[in-house]
Amino acid sequence: MSAATALKVPFIDLKQRYEEEKTELLACVERVVSQGHFVLTQEVSEFEQAAARYIGVKHVVGLNSGTDALMMALWAHGIGKGDEVITTPVSFVATTGSIVHVGAKPVYVDVREDQLIDPAKIEAAITPRTKAIMPVHWIGRIADMDAIMAVAKKHKLLVIEDAAQTMGAYYKGKHGGSHGNAAGYSAHPLKNLNALGDGGFMGTNDDEVARKVKLYRTHGLESRDSCVMYGVNSRLDTLNAEVLKFRLQRLKSVVDRRRRNVEIYRKLIKPGPVYIPPEKPHEHNSYVMFIVQAERRDELKDYLAARGIESLVYYGTALHLHKAAARLGYKRGDFPVAEKQCDRVLALPHHQHLTEEQIAYASEAVNKFYG
Ligand SMILES: *Cc1c(COP(=O)(O)O)cnc(C)c1O
Repeated sequence: MSAATALKVPFIDLKQRYEEEKTELLACVERVVSQGHFVLTQEVSEFEQAAARYIGVKHVVGLNSGTDALMMALWAHGIGKGDEVITTPVSFVATTGSIVHVGAKPVYVDVREDQLIDPAKIEAAITPRTKAIMPVHWIGRIADMDAIMAVAKKHKLLVIEDAAQTMGAYYKGKHGGSHGNAAGYSAHPLKNLNALGDGGFMGTNDDEVARKVKLYRTHGLESRDSCVMYGVNSRLDTLNAEVLKFRLQRLKSVVDRRRRNVEIYRKLIKPGPVYIPPEKPHEHNSYVMFIVQAERRDELKDYLAARGIESLVYYGTALHLHKAAARLGYKRGDFPVAEKQCDRVLALPHHQHLTEEQIAYASEAVNKFYG
């Protein structure tokens, strides 16, 4: 076996991240554990303020997941039973799940070649019951917010952004999640700003929405002995708030390194059988994942695996074709662009610790596969 074929290219490497940040992470643990306070402490507020500054919104509320952030953003805007929310069939299932969980009905609109909701198709999906649009900034590429906000304004709709993959991504210089009425962010371990386990937060400029979500996340308790509404337990832990506060300072470096990876991939992978949506001049994408659209995708995946290169299908099923979506009444053929992409998408290895040599090896294997 030659040296080149012995090279391994893992999809993601969180252990390397630990090595890089070990001193600071252990200091976070030491600070929090030694003082012995773990729930809704000053550290949580400090992270919320730092994240709000970073994003450019008035309020951030720390929660225990991105899914809860989306759900609470919808709920706090009064969206529920009998309402419709327009969204995209290309996302993680939690986008649709958050809409269903507040009692509303998800209504899908097809995507563009870049996997983002097609604003030109939104108007046709609007009914008298439509209350909001929930665009998804897939892989950290912001949906076309100028066009989406224009439709929303015209029809008086709310815009709740699924910004789960959006930390460090900008559209026309404005951070993702700061365009609409509110946004849900995820700090899941696979996101760019990641916690030690689950975590998430909601961002908004609306004082009342922030106030309601702050109550809802902690049982509707105004103080220890005064419950003003029934809520849930969905609080960002102090330890994770401390870790996220530290990692927020490093976020730009994480995103810069990921953007550099994508640049190298773009230069090396021969276009044709592999389509890589270009980065438009007004986009500054955070690339939580690097997803290409490839001919003979499954064969390519096996070919890469045999050469030590891990890739993953993100995702092979459009949201309207899941078993859980059966009651929504959609069928195959309803969203042809999204469905075609599901047969072609492949996420190549992509994390901030990849070396140029690894990217070159993976790119070369892709080119060799197509001959
Ligand atoms: C990760 C993710 C979510 C869910 O976030 P969690 O923190 O895992 O609950 C929602 N939408 C998208 C697009 C995501 O990538």
